[in-house]
Amino acid sequence: MRLNRHVHVYSIPMRARFRGITERTGLLIEGPAGWGEFCPFEEYDDEESAPWLACALEAANEGWPAPVRSRIPVNCTVPVVSPERAHEIVARSGCSTAKVKVAESALAEDCARLEAVRDALGPRGHVRVDANALWDVDTAVTAIRAMDRAAGGLQYVEQPCRTLDELAAVRRKVSVPIAADESIRKAEDPLKVAVAGAADIAVIKVAPLGGVRRALEVAEACGLPCVVSSALETSVGMAAGVALAAALPELGHACGLATLSLFEGDVTSDSLVPVDGYLPVLTKAPVPDRVEGFGSDVLAKAWISRYDRVLAQLSR
Ligand SMILES: [Mg+2]
Repeated sequence: MRLNRHVHVYSIPMRARFRGITERTGLLIEGPAGWGEFCPFEEYDDEESAPWLACALEAANEGWPAPVRSRIPVNCTVPVVSPERAHEIVARSGCSTAKVKVAESALAEDCARLEAVRDALGPRGHVRVDANALWDVDTAVTAIRAMDRAAGGLQYVEQPCRTLDELAAVRRKVSVPIAADESIRKAEDPLKVAVAGAADIAVIKVAPLGGVRRALEVAEACGLPCVVSSALETSVGMAAGVALAAALPELGHACGLATLSLFEGDVTSDSLVPVDGYLPVLTKAPVPDRVEGFGSDVLAKAWISRYDRVLAQLSR
């Protein structure tokens, strides 16, 4: 909903439950440089939400560093669905890389879904999996080997276990490359991930890292090839992720920025959905011209007070 010319609050239903949520909500703010999105997940406290606000304010007040490329290759995302549905999602996406959520269902089900994904992609496509830190080391090793076979080769496995020590232990036992996601965001020092021998690839997200400039510093500090992923933003916040992917000196992998297809709608008519597996690089976020009808007074009040509290936290 439109609160005033420069602040909107939105609530958009998810097509399927994802990351435990069925509805995505957040606040959009306009500054001299354009629109920014502030959308920390509901369970995040003010301290954990502070970098998300820094990211929104960077977009609104400063804008982003100059891009070094004009389009970003992206992967499609396959939630925990039937093999038939997985096949359909991949075939329709136009992407040559698919990221499959695993570890939430039985290994045989995950493997059946991976076989369907490979079938839809063909032999030259890339299949990656994300376990969201749900495995212990032994389970990870068994599952990764089985999934690598089922998928006809995995590009990498994202965050198989929780700790850096566990990631390093898995990495020593399997030939599939390991990507760190939660470990990069939660690490006090992202450099540790590389030093610990815990990962081959870093997944970086612009909002939890505090904006494009800060994420570029993290990417440089960890010294690993990077994959930019979304934090389930609307097109306004997604544009910041695209700006990060566009400004990285090297980009060797498709990015996880095609997540708008998980939403029932978007806040703008210029939606950042991929065409033939690529997103365009924008100089600023698209203008949110479709916020009417998304949200209620109660939601708006909650987001405004959250914004005020986190702003106070940020200026401390
Ligand atoms: Mg992940």
